[in-house]
Amino acid sequence: MKYESMLKRARENIPDNVKKAERFEIPKVLGHLQGNRTVISNFYKIAETLNRKPEHLLKFILKELAAPGELTKSALIIGTRVSASKVNEKIAAYAREFVICRECGRPDTKLEKEGGTLYIHCTACGAMHPVREKI
Ligand SMILES: [Zn+2]
Repeated sequence: MKYESMLKRARENIPDNVKKAERFEIPKVLGHLQGNRTVISNFYKIAETLNRKPEHLLKFILKELAAPGELTKSALIIGTRVSASKVNEKIAAYAREFVICRECGRPDTKLEKEGGTLYIHCTACGAMHPVREKI
């Protein structure tokens, strides 16, 4: 068997959800320091990739970093000096808690409120998992 056809066959044998999960990559933060503040210039892009409201992600990150901060029209300003890797870590934690389906591992989910409880609803497999509402 030719190498290319072996490769093709190997790709065909990968289940769809694995392929999908591999494609999902959270953009790494683009940040720079401005005095004692940290400016994350691609924050909106990250929220968009996660398909979540920037305000929700903002709340989580500031709480996790125990830092003040605000959104401008184009960026997130954190009121302390934080390394990009630290912010990446917090965004990954947010994705694990509020975006990735616990059942199938895909990111195609929505936050939905039902009967006073907030759920991650997976549009790929239909699973629903409760998540905390208060950050
Ligand atoms: Zn799912």
